[in-house]
Amino acid sequence: MREKLLLHTCCAPCSIYVINQLLDRFDLTVYFFNPNIFPEDEYLQRLAEVKEFCRRKGIEYIEEQYQPKDWLGFVRGYEQEPEKGFRCDLCFLLRLGKTAEFAQANGYPWFSTTLTMGRQKNSLQVLNAGRKVEGTYGVKFWDQDFKKKYGTQIADWLAGRLGLYRQDYCGCVFSKPEVRS
Ligand code: SF4
Repeated sequence: MREKLLLHTCCAPCSIYVINQLLDRFDLTVYFFNPNIFPEDEYLQRLAEVKEFCRRKGIEYIEEQYQPKDWLGFVRGYEQEPEKGFRCDLCFLLRLGKTAEFAQANGYPWFSTTLTMGRQKNSLQVLNAGRKVEGTYGVKFWDQDFKKKYGTQIADWLAGRLGLYRQDYCGCVFSKPEVRS
């Protein structure tokens, strides 16, 4: 029997490739916890595409509450950090910590994340956050860097083929192009 894995997902273009990679090995549940995403319309758009993909594939998904004010409080003091800086460390720790906590509370021996797929993200930062929280919650972290082995290129091709929305910024207000420039 396949073991259960809770997969933190951030958006459909990144998730589809990762889900396809893990589906044969694990009994997957998709977990959407992204209070970093701004504005809410953007959040809802990313969520809707993930939900639709899961529905079509018959994969269970769980949406956590969207609490952007809590996220802003968590990164307070680091708003001006560049992308790949300490604000991102905190952002990954918050999202993966919540995922690991949910996995522990609900009988998932494994958790993982699609966050390593992001072009703007440093995979090592993501993997380090996952490794930190696995110790805290006692669930195993599947620490695959999904960008490798042409993951990004395949995901781009799949997203284009399916006509998925592809955002031009990571997610938070500080990563929006008009704020960055
Ligand atoms: S740039 Fe991306 S990873 Fe970094 S804090 Fe913003 S949403 Fe989180």
